Amino acid sequence: MKPADLGEANVNTGKAACAAKIRMAGVVPESVTDGPGVRLVVFLQGCPHHCPGCHNPETHDPSGGRDMAVQEILSLYDDDPLLSGVTFSGGEPFLQPEPLADITDYIHSAGGDVICYTGFTLDKLQVIARENASVDALMGKIDLLIDGPFLIGERSLDIPFRGSRNQRVIAMNEGKGKRLADEIKRVENRGTF
Ligand code: SF4
Repeated sequence: MKPADLGEANVNTGKAACAAKIRMAGVVPESVTDGPGVRLVVFLQGCPHHCPGCHNPETHDPSGGRDMAVQEILSLYDDDPLLSGVTFSGGEPFLQPEPLADITDYIHSAGGDVICYTGFTLDKLQVIARENASVDALMGKIDLLIDGPFLIGERSLDIPFRGSRNQRVIAMNEGKGKRLADEIKRVENRGTF
């Protein structure tokens, strides 16, 4: 399906330097199914894509879910020594780029890595980023992007950390991003997931 433009979708474009709250669908404190390692998964509320067969339809309504302080998320990360990083999922994370950029900065300062799922393709995000500095900033900070809508016709249980074959694993930098992408490739080649 055609992804909606961010401009149609009530993007969080607040001008505050640090958005203190985030609209959340929920968190999973320790996940091994949303990227390599043990990860804190932050599920954002609100999604404009409405992919048929979506597993999280309760996340679509941007007025659903609940507000959560960014600090609360950082504390969840700090309090668990098993965690190696954070994964943003949804919902559509790129509707709330400013608080996610703040979280990403903090996780990096704590030595962790950041994965972000999106229903947009990278190409579409790059177009949006030309007009939206907050989206551009978040794209420049995250380590790994898993892009594209869930397409039920391309659904597969044979690819790790993705729901459909059109979704791509994209390293956003040569350091942590490349290491995460390489690890996912190794898991895929082993076929034990
Ligand atoms: S992008 Fe993700 S959360 Fe949004 S409708 Fe598609 S599968 Fe569901």
